[in-house]
Amino acid sequence: MNELSYDLIVIGAGPGGYVGAIRAAQLGLKVAVIEKEKLMGGTCLRVGCIPSKALLESSHNYHAAKHQFSDHGIAVQGLTIDVAAMLKRKQKIVTVLGKGIESLFKKNAITRYTGTGRFVGETTENGHVIAVANNEGETRLTGKSIIIATGSVSSPLRGITVDETHVLTSTGALEIDQVPKTMAVIGAGAIGLEMASVWSRLGTEVTVLEYMDKVLPTMDQDISKNMQKILKDQGINFQLGVKVTKAEKHPEGGCVVEIDGKEALRPEKVLLAVGRAANTEGLRLDTLGITCDARGRIPVDTHFSTTARDVYAIGDVIEGPMLAHKAEEDGVACAEWIATGHGHVDYNIVPMVVYTDPEAAAVGKTEQQLKDTNIPYKVGMFPFMANGRARTYGDTSGFVKMLAHADTDRILGVHIVGKHAGDLIAEAASAMAFHASSEDIARVCHAHPTLAEAIKEAAMAVDGRAIHA
Ligand SMILES: Cc1cc2nc3c(=O)[nH]c(=O)nc-3n(C[C@H](O)[C@H](O)[C@H](O)COP(=O)(O)OP(=O)(O)OC[C@H]3O[C@@H](n4cnc5c(N)ncnc54)[C@H](O)[C@@H]3O)c2cc1C
Repeated sequence: MNELSYDLIVIGAGPGGYVGAIRAAQLGLKVAVIEKEKLMGGTCLRVGCIPSKALLESSHNYHAAKHQFSDHGIAVQGLTIDVAAMLKRKQKIVTVLGKGIESLFKKNAITRYTGTGRFVGETTENGHVIAVANNEGETRLTGKSIIIATGSVSSPLRGITVDETHVLTSTGALEIDQVPKTMAVIGAGAIGLEMASVWSRLGTEVTVLEYMDKVLPTMDQDISKNMQKILKDQGINFQLGVKVTKAEKHPEGGCVVEIDGKEALRPEKVLLAVGRAANTEGLRLDTLGITCDARGRIPVDTHFSTTARDVYAIGDVIEGPMLAHKAEEDGVACAEWIATGHGHVDYNIVPMVVYTDPEAAAVGKTEQQLKDTNIPYKVGMFPFMANGRARTYGDTSGFVKMLAHADTDRILGVHIVGKHAGDLIAEAASAMAFHASSEDIARVCHAHPTLAEAIKEAAMAVDGRAIHA
């Protein structure tokens, strides 16, 4: 093995790729990672999870100071928002975390190559040949195993002309440097609602346009209904069941959004947030004989193997929820499979969180999925209205909904709308991983006063014996 030969080469340093690389190095493999962007961390760190949550936190604080502090007897005068400072804070968080990944690579003796990786359709006794191209030229590496972790990009929509100044993807929406007067958000999924919340809290009049007849269409219907009402009460406008046919910069300023059978809108900004598409551009998968599925994703078996020998794929570029923690689990399991012949992810227990205020979070099956598959179930609901800690926070919106098997009582799904729902859902995911019943949770002593008591009460409600409701 020469110095440019590795046991494992990972293409893409997002949460799937960099985490998989670290796990492989821990297991003793000689690992290289190829990343085209200067900062590692992928979509999640550079233009996704982290910067969006930073802006959500800043805008939440501004909104709370403006509308909620007075309830606590706190008077604020001359409140302003400095968007430049808010963006600077966000960028600092991103940079610090990116540098953290660099040190983790050093600690684990992982070699990083900056450039675009592609297959050249050649194998040597040291494995697949990968070309890394950057401004300085091209380097060729060989890897016994290759993991493709090239992630995803914003999905385009016919008739929408993205220019990232007027008509934006989420990447552009994280860089808006002045609070727009009006904004149309196309798509009421997690990204659309989070960005709608950021700018609405800062004073933008936001209208969310959604093709389906509900917000967060993939989540449990009780979550969809509740979140729509809460966000509407917060001042976000919704037009549901509408088809946007065109959105572009308008010559007289701002944008125009054309909606089938409805009056056109003239917002200052438009955000296109209709989902993400697998990114395999420039990889030259054809040289390996790999054909992507109809949605552009790389087909893999249960061990992340593609149709090409010793070539694996993980994260957003394969089937499954496009979430950072799912990509990380893929990365760990794939590295363990390559190094040890074992490695597994339980895709029935991948939590999902929407970081609006309050948050929405879910794990396991929705009620509709249980109905559709004729699984008998019981429901336990508990409202935060009856939770002491929620009262002290001054936010009693939302509920915990637990679904358990009607015969075995095993927990099948937990759905939460409420403050810190994203943290609370971890208890449900852990319980489900241990195949817990609702009775198991109901019998666990939960600290008082905590929001987590609402999970215990929902578990008790499955058996009709919630104490506080
Ligand atoms: C606005 C927004 C908010 C989000 N919020 C959340 C959230 O709160 N929670 C959550 O779980 N998920 C969230 N996501 C989704 C999350 O970011 C993705 O699921 C996650 O980043 C996928 O990880 P990945 O490793 O598969 O790919 P990515 O993170 O997309 O990383 C792929 C990497 O590969 C690199 N690359 C691509 N091609 C090449 C090549 N040929 N050569 C070298 N490098 C290459 C790219 O530059 C990139 O760095 C959000 C996404 C967005 C856009």
